Amino acid sequence: MTSRDVGLIRKSGLDIINNSQNEDVITLLIAHRDDIYNATRNFDLGGAFATNNRFYEFPIEIIDFHRELILSNNTKCTCDLYFKSYSDFDPNKEGENPTIELFAKGIGDYTNVYGLKCNKCESRFHVSERHYHYGWYQWHPLVHDFNPPKYSTEADNVLKLYVDIIYTALDEKNKQKNELSFHLQNIKYYVNWLKTNEERIYDDIMETWNDIIEKTKSDLNRELKNKV
Ligand SMILES: [Zn+2]
Repeated sequence: MTSRDVGLIRKSGLDIINNSQNEDVITLLIAHRDDIYNATRNFDLGGAFATNNRFYEFPIEIIDFHRELILSNNTKCTCDLYFKSYSDFDPNKEGENPTIELFAKGIGDYTNVYGLKCNKCESRFHVSERHYHYGWYQWHPLVHDFNPPKYSTEADNVLKLYVDIIYTALDEKNKQKNELSFHLQNIKYYVNWLKTNEERIYDDIMETWNDIIEKTKSDLNRELKNKV
């Protein structure tokens, strides 16, 4: 991180970012925080649509966050880092953390939707891939926890994720209401995808889910109409 070499800083920065949930690794860096800060300050890593300076700025944010965690006696959790300035946390990669569980992945039109859980604090998240000039990931808290009547296949997992996302977004206090149309497209797409790709189990799945999905969509549509 202190090399003044663009390629090395980028690689080392990513190493730190990929270890954001790992206290053992980040704690070792606290003693070097000021050296990293001084060596990288005003250094320009380039970048077209998003500045690559994030590869040294966010590692410093991670180190500072872990330092405060220790000082505050762990009143927060490392998973709060998913909501800070960095928008490239790949849910597939984060799911490889021993403390982070990737419990569902919904197939979408051009973007997948992920459900993850932090096993340190039990918080859950929903994540979707976005494309605007370049790909990035939007992380949101997942608050609603629907208990479906029957719950056995991967598709059940994914449909529960979509229902939880929509009711989380419908709840005013979660501040996710601006993404309702996006979630509606995603659940419609996934049901169609199941129909085409999981023909064998589709009727079975829909026996459990059809009414739940119809109600979820109509609750969502009512909210969208209210907004207009
Ligand atoms: Zn956590």
